[in-house]
Amino acid sequence: MNKEEILSSEQGKCLGCGGNLIFCPPTQDLCCEKCSKHYEIINDNKVEIHSLYEKSKLTKTDDFQEVNKLFKCPNCGANIVLNQFEIAKKCPYCGTSLVIEDRVMQNQNPDACIPFAFDEREAGEYFVKNVKKNFFVPNKFKKNIPENKIHGIYIPAFGFDAKTVSSYRGRLYNEHTHTDSNGHSHTTRSYFSVSGTHNDFFEDVIVECSSKMTQTEIEGVIPYNCEKKKAYKNSYIMGYSVEHYNETVEASIPKYKSIVDDYIRRNILRKYSYDGVDYLNVSTSYSDEKYKYYLLPIYRFEYKYKNKDYSTYMNGQTGKIDNNVPKSKLKIALTILIPLLIILLFIILGHIN
Ligand SMILES: [Zn+2]
Ligand SMILES: [Zn+2]
Repeated sequence: MNKEEILSSEQGKCLGCGGNLIFCPPTQDLCCEKCSKHYEIINDNKVEIHSLYEKSKLTKTDDFQEVNKLFKCPNCGANIVLNQFEIAKKCPYCGTSLVIEDRVMQNQNPDACIPFAFDEREAGEYFVKNVKKNFFVPNKFKKNIPENKIHGIYIPAFGFDAKTVSSYRGRLYNEHTHTDSNGHSHTTRSYFSVSGTHNDFFEDVIVECSSKMTQTEIEGVIPYNCEKKKAYKNSYIMGYSVEHYNETVEASIPKYKSIVDDYIRRNILRKYSYDGVDYLNVSTSYSDEKYKYYLLPIYRFEYKYKNKDYSTYMNGQTGKIDNNVPKSKLKIALTILIPLLIILLFIILGHIN
């Protein structure tokens, strides 16, 4: 690519025909909406990582604040970013026309982004495939999937890194069942104490900082392969909606620590063979805490089924969808009832013998 072409693609316009350039997932470059000419995205891929308690958090990423504008949805309150060539836009969450926000954009710029790996058409195909292999989705829905609206949105999240040292002390147990001379079964527990030190290392623990998406919703579509992250460039968001962060990194610290604490507990317990936990006290010290501000790709599917509104989220990198899909009450009831019936049958058979 020559200098003139790079300059033109940075300005979001096609050198050949003046058309708007949009990010093209299949080729991971920019493509002209009018004449389909492709432009490479130049990226040295140096992602800035911030120390968690540092004062200055400003990242110089592609003049994010100068080029883009912050819009506020008057209906649902989402902070939506519009890039330089978008003049009017509807809120990707609720469809309301957006109004420009007077407030200066919050001063933290995205450090990294995971670009969309496939386009809307492919997202639609993945949605159908995912739904069809989900046992709990009603057959009626699988046969006639309702028309849906697809929105590609980059949602804001923080990725936290940390080293941890934990000391722990607890009591676990194993259960033993034996049958006495009268044929009655008894269960006894044998307890054993555990204690020690556990070292761990965490990278890119994802905490959403969106005003619209909840941590439960994002956990429905993670993991993202963060190794494929790119240093943020405006080129990746062209043609897509972007939500700017609504919660600060400070406000997200307790959430990340509770996720890490859960992992630590699980990793400690994995060292032992046991049937149950009586108690486990863990005390952890954190060091080398860092974070990045990420934009993560999400496709959101909106549709109606039996007069109920659904919105299903899909990971824009892997195609994984969350569990917010129509479910058959009959199929759920059957999966609970059948094992119970089998147990009942065994008990009855036991008494007959
Ligand atoms: Zn063109
Ligand atoms: Zn809205």
